[in-house]
Amino acid sequence: MLNGQMPIFILKEGTSRDQGKNAQKNNIDAAKAIAEAVRTTLGPKGMDKMLVDSIGDIIISNDGATILKEMDVDHPTAKMIVEVAKSQDTAVGDGTTTSVVLAGEFLKQAEELLEQGVHPTVIANGYRLAVNQAKKELDAIAKDVKDDKSLEQVARTALSGKNIGLGGDMLYKLIVKAVNAVAEEKNHKFTVEPSSIKIDKKSGGSVNETELIMGLVIDKEKVHSKMPSVVNDAKIALIDSALEIKKTEIEAKVQISDPSKIQDFLDQEVDTFKEMVSKIKKSGANVVLCQKGIDDIAQHYLAKEGIYAVRRVKKSDMEKLAKATGAKLVTNLDDLSASYLGSAKKVEEKKIGDDRMTFVTGCSNPKAVSILIRGGTEHVVSEIERALNDAIRVVAITKEDGKILPGGGAVESELSLRIRSYAASVGGREQLAIDAFAKALEVIPRTLAENAGMDPINTLIQLKAEHEKKNINTGINFSDNKVSDMYAIGVFDPLKVKRHALESAVEVATMILRIDDVIASKKSAPSPGGQGGMGGMGGMGGMPPY
Ligand code: ADP
Ligand code: MG
Repeated sequence: MLNGQMPIFILKEGTSRDQGKNAQKNNIDAAKAIAEAVRTTLGPKGMDKMLVDSIGDIIISNDGATILKEMDVDHPTAKMIVEVAKSQDTAVGDGTTTSVVLAGEFLKQAEELLEQGVHPTVIANGYRLAVNQAKKELDAIAKDVKDDKSLEQVARTALSGKNIGLGGDMLYKLIVKAVNAVAEEKNHKFTVEPSSIKIDKKSGGSVNETELIMGLVIDKEKVHSKMPSVVNDAKIALIDSALEIKKTEIEAKVQISDPSKIQDFLDQEVDTFKEMVSKIKKSGANVVLCQKGIDDIAQHYLAKEGIYAVRRVKKSDMEKLAKATGAKLVTNLDDLSASYLGSAKKVEEKKIGDDRMTFVTGCSNPKAVSILIRGGTEHVVSEIERALNDAIRVVAITKEDGKILPGGGAVESELSLRIRSYAASVGGREQLAIDAFAKALEVIPRTLAENAGMDPINTLIQLKAEHEKKNINTGINFSDNKVSDMYAIGVFDPLKVKRHALESAVEVATMILRIDDVIASKKSAPSPGGQGGMGGMGGMGGMPPY
């Protein structure tokens, strides 16, 4: 910005400007307000929020990212906090409330130091030292994922924070199976591509009917009732052009002068379709999945040949089908040959609820699986879909990283203790900030306890006592509202989720702390103006305060 020279602001009359302590206070208040808004949702005993939009549509959720996405936040600093939740959500799929609550608490603790006259730069430096140390401690506390049971418990902990009611209990096993099915191992390291798990949903039925399919599900039925309902040893042609004749072409050319000619043209049309189908048949295909339409006459001849055909398959499904079955997409039927065909043990039409869907199972590439979500209403299946998407990502990164931490506030309690002793070793002015950081971490167990209706002070004291006795995995056990070993009850959070939440919370807190000047035009320029204001502040973050 301005090559290090003093910026010259030429402000329009009527521009409001908030500087120094006042700006800081305002920003911190806004950030705290956002954290306050979501903190009651933290943990399995957290409450839900009902969000009502201007046309009266409601969303009920207790997922931090979802709530903040739906909230109409206006304050620029508050928006920065909302961004933290979004980035946490896109990066790891969980820990959004944690990151926001932590950011709010880091700022709250910083505020007390500011009042004591500690310079923001000192606080920011102290926080940075503290978070670097905290990451090392997290690595030291983390344990290896030993078996699928640990992964299931990670999935269960992640799902418990989502508002999906009773269905969650069977879903976590299914998630781990799906992730294991698509995981690829190389040199003892796993890589998991969450997008290889296709999620489909059909409302109707109960959540317990949600199933994992070792293959792909396509939300389409066969085009003709005379086609077989099951094809074993399927040889699959993926065609991305229409099996139709453009009617306009014929109409443009036909001049009806002689009634017998009409029949000729109709016959010609039939011949064209017959030829299309014979090309398909000759290739050896017994299943045709077409991205575009299939003409009635073509359907008839396909059925006659015993070929199973589906039309208007989504492009994204076509791509997944190609990957799963090894088929190559064909645009021109003349190109179709055996080498273009994909294979699957079975292609089958099944009735799901009121609809019929096509199941492609036993694919040549087994790393293609689908989860078909069932549930009472559209609203329920969508909610489960959101939760599953997040939980799959959480389990995927845990499978890749192989590291877990004790949940239920255990890791924050332990970190708090360790960072306090680290603070003493650093000394100097930063010590105060590092101590404040350690204190701020306690907001997680305190909030978890509060949300479960436990006495937060008592709980913190008990946790502290256990951790001082080196019981580093002691956290809050909600089944009896006491503190106990989280490994014993299987409450784990992935290392990566905790690490990311800490990092991003510190990053935004220090960024906000360094802002000492907020300049905005009173004359309300709509949204783009607001964006400009935020960009400007980001730039100022790089300047020395005061
Ligand atoms: P976030 O958006 O941060 O993931 P959640 O509402 O999902 O917020 O709450 C996550 C916190 O709840 C974590 O600290 C996690 O360890 C804790 N938690 C989840 N399930 C349990 C449980 N069964 N017992 C104790 N703590 C739990
Ligand atoms: Mg969660």
